[in-house]
Amino acid sequence: MTDFTMTTDADGVALITWDTVGKSMNVMSREAMALLNDLMDAALADKAVKGIVLTSGKDTFAGGMDLNVLARLRDENPDNPAQALFDFTMAGHTMMRKIERAGMDPKTNKGGKPIAAALPGTALGIGLELPLACHRIFAADNPKAKIGLPEIMVGIFPGGGGTTRLVRKMGAMAASPLLLEGKLNDPQAAKRLGVIDEVVPADELISAAKAWVLSGPQIVKPWDEKGYKMPGGTPYHPAGFMTFVGASAMVNGNTWGVYPAAKALLSAVYEGALVPFDTALKIEARWFTNVLMNPSSSAMIRSLFINKEALDKGANRPAVPDQKVKKVGILGAGMMGAGIAYVSANAGIEVVLIDAKQEAADKGKSYAEGILDKGMQRKKVTAEKKAQVLGRINATTDYAALAGCDLIVEAVFEVVAVKADVTKKVLAVVGKDAIFATNTSTLPITELAKASDYPDEFIGIHFFSPVDKMNLVEIIKGKATGDVAVAKALDYVRQIRKTPIVVNDARFFYANRCIIPYINEGIRMVAEGVSPALIEHAAKLVGMPLGPLQLVDETSIDLGVKIAKATKAAMGADYPDGAVDEVLFWMADQGRMGRKSNAGFYAYDDAGKRLGFWDGLAGKYPVADSQPDLITVQHRLLFVQVLEAVRALQDGVLMDIREGDVGAILGWGFAPWSGGPFSWLDMLGAPYAAQRCDELTDEFGLRFATPALLREMADKGQEFYKRFGPTAKAA
Ligand code: NAD
Repeated sequence: MTDFTMTTDADGVALITWDTVGKSMNVMSREAMALLNDLMDAALADKAVKGIVLTSGKDTFAGGMDLNVLARLRDENPDNPAQALFDFTMAGHTMMRKIERAGMDPKTNKGGKPIAAALPGTALGIGLELPLACHRIFAADNPKAKIGLPEIMVGIFPGGGGTTRLVRKMGAMAASPLLLEGKLNDPQAAKRLGVIDEVVPADELISAAKAWVLSGPQIVKPWDEKGYKMPGGTPYHPAGFMTFVGASAMVNGNTWGVYPAAKALLSAVYEGALVPFDTALKIEARWFTNVLMNPSSSAMIRSLFINKEALDKGANRPAVPDQKVKKVGILGAGMMGAGIAYVSANAGIEVVLIDAKQEAADKGKSYAEGILDKGMQRKKVTAEKKAQVLGRINATTDYAALAGCDLIVEAVFEVVAVKADVTKKVLAVVGKDAIFATNTSTLPITELAKASDYPDEFIGIHFFSPVDKMNLVEIIKGKATGDVAVAKALDYVRQIRKTPIVVNDARFFYANRCIIPYINEGIRMVAEGVSPALIEHAAKLVGMPLGPLQLVDETSIDLGVKIAKATKAAMGADYPDGAVDEVLFWMADQGRMGRKSNAGFYAYDDAGKRLGFWDGLAGKYPVADSQPDLITVQHRLLFVQVLEAVRALQDGVLMDIREGDVGAILGWGFAPWSGGPFSWLDMLGAPYAAQRCDELTDEFGLRFATPALLREMADKGQEFYKRFGPTAKAA
């Protein structure tokens, strides 16, 4: 069995079928590419072949390049990885250019064999770049199919000719959401945009493509014709000029300049637009190599693609039989419970949604209805689907309805006694038959498990708000939690298509443990007289999605006060955040609870729109005459988070640094360009990181003290991924 096979029919159409061995979706490997190249050579040379149809043996066309190939190429050529990556990229260009030219005479454009791509379903990345090199793209009318170039989402850009071809096909303006945002479309929308050419019924896909091939079509690409003009104009054309100036401003405005791939993509498009097609491909390859050589891109690929995929597949799942959830009971139909009910029902799971009062339970169910209605307005959800999903949610006050549940997720008030009470009520119905999970954000799992007769079946499943949007779920093992409970939680998170991390029980688990110090550091700086604008901009310029002051406004200042009081009560004399509390408590005293009260560190208008910093803040905490430099502020904001991550690893709360990195990006948006806290430390190098912590400790206090683990790694010159990565030998 091979990834590509070819058969030629009596009419002389060669059908090349892509069917990656052992995978549910086609992905391009080095071997597969060489094979495709050989088959194309053979078909083009064979006089009996009049034209070619390229299709897939699966119900999708392809998921893209196997990104492990790029990492391997770099590792296999340590002396000159850039050359190896460039040569590989150019080899791809050469093959696709051969497909595009299809044996035509270079001078007259005469001759050549028509080549059609026939896409039965989803076509992503190189799975679209390859069709773009063919002469006509047919797609089956499959509304579930996604067509596009999502490379930018993992820190690279389409480097298989997709950038150059799409811009020449559609113009820079029309191509920009597809390239810069990785926007995916269904086949009908992709046709309307001009990405593909034909949408046909699925059972006519191959026959339509073959008929076109045999129809003696015009196959010269516009950019290979004399006098070709790029749609929308090139950079020095008056209309094109506006596009390029605007695009550059927009990209920098959206990314704060921290994503190398976005900048490189723009450069490839701009420079490529000024030169002939083949030179543009070479420029694309050079920028692609440049991005692949940037540590940020490798770290993003590793965290957002390779490691995320490994976690999604249950990398750390205990070896127990399948624990897929059939019926879930959700306790508490408030903000979290309602969201959890929706995502569960949406994934096909039967839901019993319980609250103390029927109207509260109904309100929780209506939250799901609201989301589904919005989906219908956007034509993403059909009336039938809405009815199905809502039909799976039984909103009730009756605990007896929990009979038959194999998983319980508790999301009632954050009060130990309330949680203990519902735990007992639930167990009276389901007994040992269901795994009991709590969605607590602050209470120790081991403590809460005391209310259960079966602590081995008790676990934390910590969602982030809003549940339907946030992709991370933290699974927390209490002291007694058993393997079946962990597997159950992992299988459930997989069913609802979110990414799990598994951590041990400790104050604030992992994500909140790291994000609270970030918020606190921002507030502390306000007390010191650092300009709020400097604090917020420093955070965004280092890739944090929200500055710490905006974040505390969003999560609410009274929640901050509540957490501070509870933490202080638990830590006693060791509590380090008195300076932060002064500001936080004063804000709460002023009635400024954050966005929900339309008043926080920021001012808001009546409609809730953020206006600017609240001017009353400077009255109490004046901005000092002398301000710190940008890097110092950024280092304070990043190191407070990253050092917590290192301590979590050192203390055994985190068990896998991949979870630490993926969890940080998906959970609280930790500077995605860095690949996560551990990837960032590897980029800095442990010796420099430890030295910087020493300096920050001298200047700002013991919260920056170098953890013993980091000190040891600095002394030994170790890297986190070499020492703790999945392929690391025991250190
Ligand atoms: P919420 O106040 O919106 O909802 C709690 C719901 O539980 C209410 O509808 C209430 O009527 C119901 N309830 C209370 N006691 C009950 C009882 N004895 N029986 C049945 N129902 C009862 O709170 P929330 O924000 O949804 O938080 C719920 C849990 O999730 C808390 O443990 C919280 O710490 C945790 N959590 C919250 C967030 C967040 O961002 N809000 C994030 C992660 C975890």
